[in-house]
Amino acid sequence: TQIMSRGLPKQKPIEGVKQVIVVASGKGGVGKSTTAVNLALALAANDSSKAIGLLDADVYGPSVPKMMNLKGNPELSQNNRMRPLLNYGIACMSMGFLVEESTPVVWRGLMVMSAVEKLLRQVDWGQLDYLVVDMPPGTGDVQLSVSQNIPISGAVIVSTPQDIALMDAHKGAEMFRKVHVPVLGLIQNMSVFQCPKCKHKTHIFGADGAKRLAQSLGLDVLGDIPLHLSIREASDRGQPVVFSQPESDEAKVYLRIAVEVV
Ligand code: ADP
Repeated sequence: TQIMSRGLPKQKPIEGVKQVIVVASGKGGVGKSTTAVNLALALAANDSSKAIGLLDADVYGPSVPKMMNLKGNPELSQNNRMRPLLNYGIACMSMGFLVEESTPVVWRGLMVMSAVEKLLRQVDWGQLDYLVVDMPPGTGDVQLSVSQNIPISGAVIVSTPQDIALMDAHKGAEMFRKVHVPVLGLIQNMSVFQCPKCKHKTHIFGADGAKRLAQSLGLDVLGDIPLHLSIREASDRGQPVVFSQPESDEAKVYLRIAVEVV
C-alpha cells in the first residue's frame, strides 16, 4: 500500500506506556473487541500491581464505551491531552467518547488517520504497564499506520474457526510480519456451543480451523473461547465476564490467555 511504499517511519513510544499489545482480526464480528476488553480485565485481575489501559482504535465501530459501560467527554490534562475514562480499574480511550453514538462515521482517508493519530498521541495515560489496543478489523491503512508508528510488544489475532475468517486472519498475520510486529498467537473464538439444556456440543463455525492455521503459520493457539450466552450478555450489559463472573469457565479462558501474552 501507499504507506508501505513510503518506507517505515520512525517509531515513537506512547508516553508513559511500557508495553503495547494489539488485538487484531481479519474481519469484523469475530469477537475481537470482546477479546480485547476481557484480556485487559484479565491482565489486571492476574496481577493487581499492573496498570492497564485499553485503547479502542476501532474508529469505524467503537465498542469499548458500551462493553466497559463508559460514556462522557474526556477532560483535558494540563498539557492539553485527553484523560482516559476509568472503569473496573482500566483506563479507557475510545472514539466513542469523542463523537455522539448516533453520528455516522463517514470520515475517510485522512480524517480517520488524524483521529487515530489523536488517539495514539494525545492521550494522557499516566503510567501504564500494558496498553491493550482494540484494532479495527482488517489490514488497511489504519492498521498499518498503528503497527508502524508505535513500538508493539506483540499482536494477537482473533478468528472464528470458519474458513473465510481464517483466510483474513492469515492476511493479518502476514501484515504484522511485514512490519516486524511479533505475533504472539491466534485466539480461536466461538468454536463450540454447548446447549444449556441438553449439553450437546455443536461446532457452529467449525472445530479447529484456527489450530490448523496456527500450525501452518508456525504460531501458537493462545486460547479457545466457546460461543457462550453469558459472554454476549455480559458484554452487552457493560460488565464483561472477566469482571462480572471471574469464577466462570468462560472467564478462566481469558485469564489463561492473559498469562500467555505477558
Ligand atoms: P468484533 O470486534 O470482531 O467485531 P465483537 O467483539 O464486537 O466482534 O463481537 C461480535 C458480537 O459477538 C458481539 O455481540 C459479542 O458480544 C458477541 N461475541 C463475541 N465473542 C463471543 C463469544 N465467545 N460468545 C458469545 N458471544 C460472543
